Amino acid sequence: MKNMKKIVALAMAAAMTATLAACGSSSGSSSSSASSSAPAAESTAAAETTQTNVDPAVEASTDATATTESTAADAQTPDLSSDKYVGDGVWTVGTNATFPPFEYIDDNGQPTGFDVALVQEIGKRLGLKVEVQDMEFDALVASIGSKIDAAAAGMTVTDERKKTVDFSEAYYDATQAVLVKKGSSIKTQDDLKNAKVGVQLGTTGAGIADDLHGEGSDKTITYNSYNDVVQDLINGKTDAVIMDQVPAEAYQSQSGDQLEVLPGTQFNFDTEEYAIALPKGDTELLDAVNGAIDAMKADGTFDSLVDKWINNYSAE
Ligand code: GLN
Repeated sequence: MKNMKKIVALAMAAAMTATLAACGSSSGSSSSSASSSAPAAESTAAAETTQTNVDPAVEASTDATATTESTAADAQTPDLSSDKYVGDGVWTVGTNATFPPFEYIDDNGQPTGFDVALVQEIGKRLGLKVEVQDMEFDALVASIGSKIDAAAAGMTVTDERKKTVDFSEAYYDATQAVLVKKGSSIKTQDDLKNAKVGVQLGTTGAGIADDLHGEGSDKTITYNSYNDVVQDLINGKTDAVIMDQVPAEAYQSQSGDQLEVLPGTQFNFDTEEYAIALPKGDTELLDAVNGAIDAMKADGTFDSLVDKWINNYSAE
């Protein structure tokens, strides 16, 4: 992992030189890691390929240059080299890729979507190589700080989760909704109370189902993947699904007109906010991530990611 630091330092030095030569273009986009030479590397695989190619050249160059230049680059990029979690230059981000358009598996079997693009861009701005790890949603929070350095998974900020992790600033307003088969008679919260409801384990939707049915009720059916949750709704094993509205619409659009999304307002569901979950107490990393999000919001990058991945998402 040591080599990684050298690569990043050199890349930042190169980026700085380029920026100075160009008379100060935007600092945000100039301080990028080696992987950024591939345009916003869509997958970890692409980023790794780039790095492998760069490696031999780096080995041949001098350490002294890297050290000096990386100090200069620190003026624009937070120095995370002594950070407990990302000091090795790698930011391992967990997700659950059954949550389109925020995260889903692309045609090459790689996690993709808004959250993946978001953390790739944050990593680029912080000089970190991003590795996205697909896992069960229910395992994410407990894995932060050990198996993974963060979770980007359309994760709602909750007081319960805040006991274990820190959250970045919120990046998306959300609400739970109800997904049913077209023509379903379910219309109200009372109807839901009497229905078999499918949910993904560990989600806020699962929490609502517990509130309605009582914890451990056989009316709440839990799954580890939204693909299975929705499949069993289509099969008629459940009557309804409580899940986030935008992903519910994505599944609806993939269902060939078999499903319908009922708005959360109809069931008195609260509004929620998504944020990136980070190891508790690492304010250095938290500030760096928030700084990158702020910069992305200020320079229009954030809005263009929302447009590309959320507003223009279309299911095959
Ligand atoms: N927003 C919901 C939660 O945080 C669901 C997220 C998800 O399943 N990816 O619990």
